[in-house]
Amino acid sequence: MRIGNYKVTSLVTSRFSLDGGSMFGIIPKSMWEKKIAPDDDNRIPLVTRSLLIRGNGKIILVDTGNGDKWDSKMKAILDTDPSVVNIQASLGELSVKPDEITDVICSHLHFDHAGGNTSLNGETVIPTFPNAKYWLQKSNWDWANSPTEKDKGSYRLENWEVLAENEMFTFLDGEEEFIAGIQIRITHGHTPGQMHPLLSDGETTLFFGNDLFPTQLHFRIPCIMAFDNKPLKTLEEKKSVLNQAADENWIIVLPHDGKTEAVRLKRDGDKYAIEQIELDGGEQ
Ligand SMILES: [Zn+2]
Repeated sequence: MRIGNYKVTSLVTSRFSLDGGSMFGIIPKSMWEKKIAPDDDNRIPLVTRSLLIRGNGKIILVDTGNGDKWDSKMKAILDTDPSVVNIQASLGELSVKPDEITDVICSHLHFDHAGGNTSLNGETVIPTFPNAKYWLQKSNWDWANSPTEKDKGSYRLENWEVLAENEMFTFLDGEEEFIAGIQIRITHGHTPGQMHPLLSDGETTLFFGNDLFPTQLHFRIPCIMAFDNKPLKTLEEKKSVLNQAADENWIIVLPHDGKTEAVRLKRDGDKYAIEQIELDGGEQ
């Protein structure tokens, strides 16, 4: 899909599973299991999906998925196998090499969004994208380095330590535009300083849903993940984004939905309608 000077596509960078109850919060299992069947451990199948934005002399990646730095115990817990799906191979399918990436926009440093920031070279953790500038909200950096007991399992030092040592991060403070043609929105309910890229050329507007809208099922307002630190803040943020998205026919990319890459929202009276779309389904 072309938006302004940029060609925008998405890529699946890993497959994994998380507990269905955690994903759907207060929604009873008897309701969500009709939409997505859990396995024997009550886990539901998910993906990590990144955006690739090419243009203006840049190759920009938004988020990097689970990465490959998992021992066998964690691979079993997360039901993930980086040898089957990984970010390097998925980029290769789009003819992009890791050293060609100029910028990595880190929505936040949870392991399923930032795990591919670094990778293993033998036993050594190295930057996956050696020539990239990594962009992150300062508020998320501060939180990631001193999380609460509730969310510290999601913030793993190996996903950013070597980047900081090599001074590869640029920290941002709020919704300033830092790459021409890419605006950002910030939400805080899931975790402080979650960054959502927003691209628009006046006709088409695309919003990266991140963990505000991890799957299509999360468009239901009360469906808020148990992972969120401030669920009532998430609720306000969802309503605000959905109202504007419906009024302006936004495309929302879903980072964890295994079936639906993106949807387009349309105003339908005092509600909104959702249409599934593929970013590469239209004009290239
Ligand atoms: Zn997250």
